[in-house]
Amino acid sequence: MHTPSTPKSAGAERHVGRRRRVSYVLPVYNEAAVLEEFHAELLRTTEHRPDLDFEFVYVDDGSRDTSLEQLLALRRRDHRVTVLSLAANRGHQIAVVAGLEHAVHADAVIVLDTDLQDPPVVSLEMIAAWEGGVDVVYAQRRTRDDTLFKRATAAGFYWLLDRLSSTPIPRDTGDFRLMDRRVVAEVVRYREKDPFLRGIVAHAGFRQEAVLFDRDARRAGESKYPLRAMFALAASGIATFSSTPLRLISRLGYLISALSLLAGVYVLAVRLFASDQAVPGWAFLGVGMFFLGGLQLVMMGVIGSYLGRVYGEVQDRPRYALALTATSAGTPQSTRD
Ligand code: UDP
Ligand code: MG
Repeated sequence: MHTPSTPKSAGAERHVGRRRRVSYVLPVYNEAAVLEEFHAELLRTTEHRPDLDFEFVYVDDGSRDTSLEQLLALRRRDHRVTVLSLAANRGHQIAVVAGLEHAVHADAVIVLDTDLQDPPVVSLEMIAAWEGGVDVVYAQRRTRDDTLFKRATAAGFYWLLDRLSSTPIPRDTGDFRLMDRRVVAEVVRYREKDPFLRGIVAHAGFRQEAVLFDRDARRAGESKYPLRAMFALAASGIATFSSTPLRLISRLGYLISALSLLAGVYVLAVRLFASDQAVPGWAFLGVGMFFLGGLQLVMMGVIGSYLGRVYGEVQDRPRYALALTATSAGTPQSTRD
């Protein structure tokens, strides 16, 4: 899915003058088992581009294992590593937002999972496309080595999102993407409490292109997106980019009213023209009552979920708090000192 392109010059001017800086935003939640291997692979990847200045922004999303200690150790070895540690687990999307807000000054930002499911080497292709003038390079899965169940639910989600969303959101993409600094500057202006980043990036516009890749299986540890979290993300994707469910409620209401009108005509006809025959009723009544009762509850739930989002936005709580920031500038800053 390509949005209309902006003039080539936008990309060309990225190459003149000073060294360009590319920041990786790397969300981490209980990834102690793979972090070393991940970082080694990331370094191997970035070695191919000695002409660029890299920064590795690890965002520890309130991990309960030794991830944070490991990240701080990585930072002691390599001052291009920045460690942000959220005060509590806020979820993948917010962790990425925290990283983006830190990385706004980079010329390009690459968002990458730290479980080696998104192969770091693909980011070299992204950088090449960016240098060719593309503002958003998203990784689109050619294949994915996930369970059949995860593949099936993902397919269902994209189908639904496609039908409901007012913004076309590219299918089979995760949050693995490169964004030019102009895009990052826009994305951090979306102040949603429950952000759906791939939708936001699509909504922001700019010139977007895909690179295809094969998604690997998780190298170690387990998915932090259990079924419940997956549904929550899907619901957030649909609710933040579509009010179609709300409109469907009234359409369904009209349909059922029309049907009941027809039933009324039938009852009247039997009463008037076949008065020896009584209209058999109670089974139909019982079933109809439970059907409508259930339907009304579901519809209230739909309205409630939108209302809940409105409430969340109105409360306007901060999206995350930083417990610790360790940047290349100096010693780790805990909010405690
Ligand atoms: N993650 C996070 N906070 C969370 C859950 C996950 O920062 O609450 C990170 C996780 O460490 C990984 C990325 O987000 O780097 C994707 O998570 P996961 O692999 O569990 O998702 P999946 O690949 O199964 O969709
Ligand atoms: Mg994963």
